[in-house]
Amino acid sequence: MAETKDSYLVIGGSGFLGRHIVQQLLDRGDAVASFDIVQRHFDVPFYSGDITNVDEVANALRKSGTTCIIHTASPPAGSKNEALYFKVNVEGTKAVIAAAVSTGVRKLVFTSSAGVVFNGNDLANVDERLPYPDVPLDAYNDSKAKAEQVVLEANGKDGLLTVALRPAGIFGPGDRQVMSGMYKVYEGNQTHFQIGDNTNLFDWTYVGNVAKAHLLAADKLDLPAPALPLCESKEDALIAED
Ligand code: NAD
Repeated sequence: MAETKDSYLVIGGSGFLGRHIVQQLLDRGDAVASFDIVQRHFDVPFYSGDITNVDEVANALRKSGTTCIIHTASPPAGSKNEALYFKVNVEGTKAVIAAAVSTGVRKLVFTSSAGVVFNGNDLANVDERLPYPDVPLDAYNDSKAKAEQVVLEANGKDGLLTVALRPAGIFGPGDRQVMSGMYKVYEGNQTHFQIGDNTNLFDWTYVGNVAKAHLLAADKLDLPAPALPLCESKEDALIAED
């Protein structure tokens, strides 16, 4: 019997990562539409809207016949507007879930961030069992953590399956934040600073690989999740290196 293919709505589809997800879905022949507050591309059906407005999201879901949402929208990191982070990332994500449930969407893939478990101290060889820090790094990461929790709590309820991914730094074509920020540092001649003892490491992932991870997560969302033992502390979450 032929498998029914999903129809996708990429929320934040005009963004850096969202655009790569749209392109990869197009490349493999899937039906895809984009939802965003701004339009930057014109090759897929576009729904202009704000995720904090449940009716705008539900309208786009109904009109596009979406069965799988990939939600990448967020205000960019580094802003001082803390209220906007909570409005868009937490309340907006709740609105996306409400709209998904009311329109019978089956799957939701959410872009979280590796920063949700970062408290400013070194993290090496940890995995998703690491608890959230008692004191979040900042409002952006706090709001991403709360949004992620909302998404995971919705899993398996009202016919909706959910998953959250935590990329670290993303680089590649279309980036409007990382390289321009580094270039400003270079232009401002701020290159003679050293952070720590010069052995600091940070994870970066190519945008095409992050996009691919979202497609794979959506594809696997019908399968039972692998069982992970629960752990309570950072020590428990450390993976043995050998
Ligand atoms: P981006 O700013 O390029 O894209 C985000 C998109 O969301 C934009 O097109 C924006 O217009 C849209 N958006 C913002 N508020 C909205 C709203 N209220 N309603 C509808 N659309 C809205 O950002 P990006 O770098 O592509 O990041 C995508 C996701 O990945 C974000 O959730 C971000 O938190 C996460 N992330 C990014 C990085 C990184 O290094 N870029 C790292 C970890 C996690």
